[in-house]
Amino acid sequence: MGSFPIVFYSAPVRMSSYIIVGAGVFGVSTAYHLKKQIPSASVTLIDRTDPPCPIAASHDINKIVRADYEDIFYCSLGLETLHAWKTDPFFNQWFHPAGLLTVTDRKSHLIEKILENLEKLDAKSGADPFTPREISAKFDGIFSDMRLRPDDKLLFNGSAGIAEAEKALSATIQACMDLGVRYVAAPVSRLIINDKVCKGVQTDDGRTLSAQNIILSTGAATAKLIADSAPQQAELQVGPRITARAVCCAAVQLDEQQVRKFKKVPAVAHHAGGTQGETMPPVDNLLKFISDISFQNTVFHPESGQRISVPFTDQSRSQWTSPEYIPSELKEDLDNVIKSLYGKKASGLKTTTMRICW
Ligand SMILES: Cc1cc2nc3c(=O)[nH]c(=O)nc-3n(C[C@H](O)[C@H](O)[C@H](O)COP(=O)(O)OP(=O)(O)OC[C@H]3O[C@@H](n4cnc5c(N)ncnc54)[C@H](O)[C@@H]3O)c2cc1C
Repeated sequence: MGSFPIVFYSAPVRMSSYIIVGAGVFGVSTAYHLKKQIPSASVTLIDRTDPPCPIAASHDINKIVRADYEDIFYCSLGLETLHAWKTDPFFNQWFHPAGLLTVTDRKSHLIEKILENLEKLDAKSGADPFTPREISAKFDGIFSDMRLRPDDKLLFNGSAGIAEAEKALSATIQACMDLGVRYVAAPVSRLIINDKVCKGVQTDDGRTLSAQNIILSTGAATAKLIADSAPQQAELQVGPRITARAVCCAAVQLDEQQVRKFKKVPAVAHHAGGTQGETMPPVDNLLKFISDISFQNTVFHPESGQRISVPFTDQSRSQWTSPEYIPSELKEDLDNVIKSLYGKKASGLKTTTMRICW
């Protein structure tokens, strides 16, 4: 479910050529800022398909943009990110200041930690903790049926929002190409590593591309690509540092009446009691839900002798698809999320598409 890019450096930055493998949010924003800052650099962005690649976790209806994290490092990155989404006229087109409602149970200290972090970073304004009893009076009563226990804890942060992910990703890839970034549509089968230096990549169709710097922004597929490329080099393996995990999402196509009912909802991350899930305001009349119960696909990788979690890449297990392809246990988890968040107010909501997202 995402990772910071891995960079193989080999040349001084100002006179360099770059291959970035993976055109999700990390790869694309690396290409965009690199080319803006060093116009003379040769930058090639590679992904499996024509852009935007539907397998990317970043290719989605919408994503929450927030600073509400337990870890102060993430919190401060989130504040920087929110500032960019709110003030950069390019990115702002796809940002909606919907706010984020976080729900935890009594034993969790997440909300206290978020407030402590925001206080330290001088960003507490807009963050409003409240009790389950007060929920009916907020958000026009849309969450009055939410499954809550009296001692659950709630925090609404009005400074968070959502971004229309796929639209922003597509536009940023186009902006990269307008700046002179070359886009190559091909799966990378392996990295070319000589004397511990990565010199280039080989694609499934047998092409070899070389550059002075190779940047991996391959998200959940990173461990497998490195294992396939350098199976005997134990020190390069990802090991326990990154584990590919998936969660399941559902999207409901709303009719006009339902759009009016749900359009002003905030993003919600509900982690209390038997509920582990999220929702966010509709984009293009699609209301999205996520079950936050994650799972992995661990297989034995014979060449490197290790067990790694490998994301699926076939359509029914990596992209939006018909609910008929989704295992019934995952559908039940999502039904539980929808009912926990909206109770009776969810009646009439029918899942139209689902996705296992890595
Ligand atoms: C269901 C879900 C909901 C989420 N919600 C949020 C949220 O609300 N807010 C938030 O901040 N984060 C959220 N995240 C996390 C966020 O989506 C990720 O952190 C982010 O998208 C990761 O971006 P990335 O560029 O690292 O990876 P990805 O977007 O997955 O991109 C990796 C790209 O690398 C390509 N690639 C991999 N291997 C190869 C290869 N061998 N050859 C060619 N191309 C290759 C893939 O095709 C893919 O396009 C969510 C994640 C999931 C799964």
